[in-house]
Amino acid sequence: KCDICHSEVVQKSKDVWYLRITEYADKLLEGLKHVDYLPNIKAQQEHWIGKSRGAFVNFSLKDIPEKLRIYTTRPDTLFGVTFMVIAPEHPIIDKYQDKIRNMDEIADYRTECSKKTEFERTQLVKDKTGVKIDGLTAINPVNGKEIPVYISDYVMMGYGTGAIMAVPAHDDRDYEFAKKFGIDIIEVIKGGDIEKAAYTGDGEMVNSGFLNGMDNKKDSIKKMIDYLTEKGIGEGGVQYKMKDWAFNRQRYWGEPIPIVYCPKCGMVPVPYDELPLKLPNVENFEPGQDGESPLAKIDSFVNCKCPVCGGDAKRETDTMPQWAGSSWYFLRYVDPHNDKTFADYDKLKYWMPVDWYNGGMEHVTRHLIYSRFWYKFLYDLGVVPYEEPYQKRTAQGLILGPDGVKMSKSRGNVIDPNEVVDVYGADVLRTYVLFMGDYEQAAPWSESSVKGCKRFIDRIFNLQEILTDGDEYSKELMSAMHKTVKKVSEDIEQMKYNTAIAALMTLLNKIYEIGKINRAELKTLLILVNPFAPHVTEEMWSNCGYGEMLAKDAKWPSFDEAKCVDSTVEIVAQINGKIRARLSVPADIESDEAISLAKKEENIAAELENKNIIKEIYVKGKLVNIVAK
Ligand SMILES: [Zn+2]
Ligand SMILES: [Zn+2]
Repeated sequence: KCDICHSEVVQKSKDVWYLRITEYADKLLEGLKHVDYLPNIKAQQEHWIGKSRGAFVNFSLKDIPEKLRIYTTRPDTLFGVTFMVIAPEHPIIDKYQDKIRNMDEIADYRTECSKKTEFERTQLVKDKTGVKIDGLTAINPVNGKEIPVYISDYVMMGYGTGAIMAVPAHDDRDYEFAKKFGIDIIEVIKGGDIEKAAYTGDGEMVNSGFLNGMDNKKDSIKKMIDYLTEKGIGEGGVQYKMKDWAFNRQRYWGEPIPIVYCPKCGMVPVPYDELPLKLPNVENFEPGQDGESPLAKIDSFVNCKCPVCGGDAKRETDTMPQWAGSSWYFLRYVDPHNDKTFADYDKLKYWMPVDWYNGGMEHVTRHLIYSRFWYKFLYDLGVVPYEEPYQKRTAQGLILGPDGVKMSKSRGNVIDPNEVVDVYGADVLRTYVLFMGDYEQAAPWSESSVKGCKRFIDRIFNLQEILTDGDEYSKELMSAMHKTVKKVSEDIEQMKYNTAIAALMTLLNKIYEIGKINRAELKTLLILVNPFAPHVTEEMWSNCGYGEMLAKDAKWPSFDEAKCVDSTVEIVAQINGKIRARLSVPADIESDEAISLAKKEENIAAELENKNIIKEIYVKGKLVNIVAK
């Protein structure tokens, strides 16, 4: 249903401009080997391209000089084919409609299909529907058996050949369809019980003529492809799930497609020196009659001269999709004022590829595929210097609603960041969003954790009350300061913001334990907290007289690896190998001193009272052991 007027939405056939992205399928796959994308992003790209190996097979039709061509990844199961399914839109239906005895039924079914989207047809189908074509019979090319032909909406004309062979014994979808329509189910791979369900595992071939007895899928497939090739019935081939890119839209906002229709010359491209073809100024953006582009109503745009013969001609009025611009806008950043070309080649060479592209997972298929394709095409034209536009691609996780589900208005679980800012301030919101979980993982919104971040920011602010003089780190905080600088610096580089903030929280606890912070320590702390909470740290920077503006004045603090070592360590004190006490000692304590400290521990002293010490050992940073009788 239409969102605005609520009338029924119907699909219409329309002439479509395609960009032949399928020509680049292999290049798009190959290129993934040379970039640094998150593994799941690479996997989604591969899945979208969907390269498979299999065979094309031509099925003859009984009494009709026509063949139905199909693609299958499992030619080894050809002996088990008991029916075929073609898309409701398949042209063979109209071509032979005088042979088909149930055209009315078929026409009704087609009308139903036209109301469904492709997604509804292929993904949401719970109940298989279809109509047997009364009058078309196919011949299984490997065993000569006559098999029925159905139309069903789960087969799309746009995918592959618009026809499929069905092997109900070994495919769940075909099995369901065969059960519903009472079609034969012939087992060709042993191992399951086809009375109960389709068997999709491996096993020994049966009922399969020359394949009988074979049990290696790969070998069976190869043998069948050899057979098909030899008999001229079919051949091996690859197929991609990716389709060509439907590239025209019937709306105003888009780049006009630069094509002219001439009654004499046909379709003629707009010459280079007239490019770019710009949108005319209009006041009415609504679409034209019968779903036409808004541009079709503007005579001054539509009517033009043919670039070839100079006669009267008309412009294409469809526009490009938003993906056109999003595929390459960033190249212009390299050289925004160039009026000769979109960007100077040498500048592109300097700046490209994009070092690091971070964005949402919702753009890792279409936009990422389209822009890589666009860039590779430009590369083949010789106008960009590298084969891939993005060297590294990462993605942030989704912030879920408090109920752990994706936020949506209809669920009523949407958190409005403006309201959070009103209550807690922008620093708290920002700190919380970075603290709430691993950057790449989805995480639910948690009000109590927001409050925790509020406390953290408040406690940072209150440090001003326990501030003391000092232009270098105090002994007590020395190692904690160096450790925190190291941790925060390294974590930010790796986008581990949550653990960086956790380290700052730990440091803050330690400061409050000690009860004071000096000017040198606070200065470093403010710089470390600034990326997460810029406002409050700027204010403190100026309050405490460090300078005018942190963002302008401050240099990122460095750390000394040697000083990151804990200044004190906890060791255990043992008598005859049994732990009697734990104590904190300076990390660089001498052996004698450690042993003497251990002996002063109450438990140790008491037990040693009536014993003779035979041996004393100190293992650095770990333990003191006293052997006594
Ligand atoms: Zn409407
Ligand atoms: Zn012409």
